[in-house]
Amino acid sequence: MAVSGHDFDVIIVGAGIMGSSTAYQVAKRGHKTLLIEQFDFLHHRGSSHGESRTMRATYPEDYYYAMVMESYKLWEEAESEIGYKVHFKARHLDMGASDDKSLHGIIETCIKHSVPHEVLDPRLLAEKFSGMFNIPENCVGVSNEYGGVIKPTKAVSMFHTLALQNGAVLRDFMEVKDIRKDGIKGGIWVYTSNGKKFWGKKCVVTVGAWTSKLVKRVSGVELPIQPLETTVCYWRIKEGHESKYRIGGDFPTFAYYGEPYIYGTPSLEFPGLIKVAVHGGYPCDQDKRPWGPGIALESLKQWIEEKLAGQVDSAAGPVATQLCMYAMTPDEDFVIDFLGGEFGKDVVIGGGFSGHGFKMGPVVGRILADLVLGGEAKGVELKHFRMGRFEENPKGNVKNFLSSKV
Ligand SMILES: Cc1cc2nc3c(=O)[nH]c(=O)nc-3n(C[C@H](O)[C@H](O)[C@H](O)COP(=O)(O)OP(=O)(O)OC[C@H]3O[C@@H](n4cnc5c(N)ncnc54)[C@H](O)[C@@H]3O)c2cc1C
Repeated sequence: MAVSGHDFDVIIVGAGIMGSSTAYQVAKRGHKTLLIEQFDFLHHRGSSHGESRTMRATYPEDYYYAMVMESYKLWEEAESEIGYKVHFKARHLDMGASDDKSLHGIIETCIKHSVPHEVLDPRLLAEKFSGMFNIPENCVGVSNEYGGVIKPTKAVSMFHTLALQNGAVLRDFMEVKDIRKDGIKGGIWVYTSNGKKFWGKKCVVTVGAWTSKLVKRVSGVELPIQPLETTVCYWRIKEGHESKYRIGGDFPTFAYYGEPYIYGTPSLEFPGLIKVAVHGGYPCDQDKRPWGPGIALESLKQWIEEKLAGQVDSAAGPVATQLCMYAMTPDEDFVIDFLGGEFGKDVVIGGGFSGHGFKMGPVVGRILADLVLGGEAKGVELKHFRMGRFEENPKGNVKNFLSSKV
């Protein structure tokens, strides 16, 4: 289907995972779709680039479970449509102190949704992960089969290809400067910094860490979505131990609920290295990034010394790092809502994915497409994601700032 001129059914601003999966969903349903990106496609300046993201179904907040499970299905559907894999399965393990509230929430979610899971006391944990983790005395775990690693850059590229195959138009190096309602013709005008303008019946804004900036400029609405710069760290597995940590074996994707919250994935993208990193980051201006150092290095080294000693070399520090941005809300829940005001239901916002949205990219794309095309999203409760929840405290208090740059 050739798209003529500058008129579209839906214009999607921002080509990270959320915008790209939305473009695919909208185009697949037969609508003229434009996806616009400010930088070059697959750049490394936002949140969706790199080599791995954790897949997990276990959330203390019950409402994410159905979204993750739908995403599993949608990842598989997209993979079969494109003909290659972006998601590699693994078991998932959540660990922490026996009185940790999040772990208890995870167990409740598993029970409520009949998710097959094992609750592991310190002895069972130590037995099951012998030679992989050193388990402290009061540590318990919850293990289940819904883990895995998604390859982010490859996944975004997959959705670009699928969107193109379904007739979408993709344009990069076009920063959207303004979005205006057309009071006469109806619909939305989207203006770019290089002097172009496009008209769409509707618009979706998925601009990650730039959400507060663009939404404020366009509508005056203040959203407490704080960009944080964060660092992914890869550590060398000691010689002779590499095979235990490889994906496809017994080593799981994991989350350690503590201060700080630490997460990791099996060895996949860099053979001989394992990813272990801190969930959190340092507040930054998205357009004037410090580009590091930004690592809670001492906490991480200490965690690795204690929990992976003997197997992973912490003393030498991380052997590879990669910088990335979180778009953090105060409650770490997403923002998925109509912009409202003069835009009513014609502009939909998807932002604030708070360092845990990637796995749900496909379902978020489905929901944003439902909202923009039909005014409602099927089978999902969006009350946790409404912008109105910030009204009492529009500046918000974002957590998970790392307190010192060590
Ligand atoms: C280090 C790290 C680890 C993570 N780990 C996990 C994990 O293990 N599991 C998980 O599920 N999630 C994880 N996440 C979170 C996940 O990656 C993000 O939630 C997700 O990538 C957010 O995607 P997005 O499309 O909202 O934002 P982005 O990927 O940043 O996309 C927004 C796009 O909009 C563009 N844009 C901005 N302003 C404009 C404009 N004015 N005009 C045009 N384009 C514009 C930007 O350039 C950008 O390309 C992690 C994130 C990071 C940084």
